Amino acid sequence: MISVKGLTKRFGENTVLDGIDLDIATGERVAVIGPSGTGKSTLLRSLNFLEKPDAGIITVGDVTVDASTASASEQRAVRRRTSFVFQNYALFANKTARDNIAEGLITVRGWSRAQAQARAEEILATIGLAEKAESYPAALSGGQQQRVGIGRAMAADAEIMLIDEPTSALDPEWVDEVLQLLKRVADARQTMLIVTHEMQFARDIADRVLFMDGGRIVEQGAPEVIFTEPKDPRTRAFLRKVL
Ligand code: ADP
Ligand code: MG
Repeated sequence: MISVKGLTKRFGENTVLDGIDLDIATGERVAVIGPSGTGKSTLLRSLNFLEKPDAGIITVGDVTVDASTASASEQRAVRRRTSFVFQNYALFANKTARDNIAEGLITVRGWSRAQAQARAEEILATIGLAEKAESYPAALSGGQQQRVGIGRAMAADAEIMLIDEPTSALDPEWVDEVLQLLKRVADARQTMLIVTHEMQFARDIADRVLFMDGGRIVEQGAPEVIFTEPKDPRTRAFLRKVL
């Protein structure tokens, strides 16, 4: 239901994604691990055209596009079927928590303002922030801001949630509440591709773990296999450092 073939992205001379092939089934939760600078964020960003790939075919649900030549409307079709959780939350500073969640429903999905705000209220209740509906990001803790970021992605009801290091910008005291919310999203079998440095979390929630290095998927498999008996020396070296 998500399929990527030959996904390639270069920044100048630097080949950051080197022909990535990846299939993700509906309801599958895939964690991406690997050293920094290895193309993990670029992979996620390319899947919703925050970056324009140089080559590759992307299928999300019922839409298939040639990534390098996709028209604006094809890119929108892919974007509508994905949602994104950013490392730094990427909330609108001048919008309330409610409007941060409602905005994309209006602009990307074409909902009416009233519908979008009702959905946002529902989501805020689900994520335990009903009383923060009128709060601006600056009045929220880092953990609350990222929960709004996750709520915004939940509201979209997308085919796949793309989640890029959701806790790495957080003070340690806020990490748990964010992981707990993501665990709930994972337990609901939301299809997800999540880049994370939280190895225990990846182990808990992922059906499959991908190890990336140098713009390629070096090794992948069930978490109990990747974390306990990795085959590739690069995976072993990485895990020795982070575990
Ligand atoms: P990761 O998320 O695994 O740390 P990234 O996908 O952020 O890695 O980056 C992979 C490589 O691409 C790095 O060498 C980075 O410097 C480079 N890169 C990322 N974004 C850009 C950009 N907008 N312009 C030029 N180089 C970039
Ligand atoms: Mg990154």
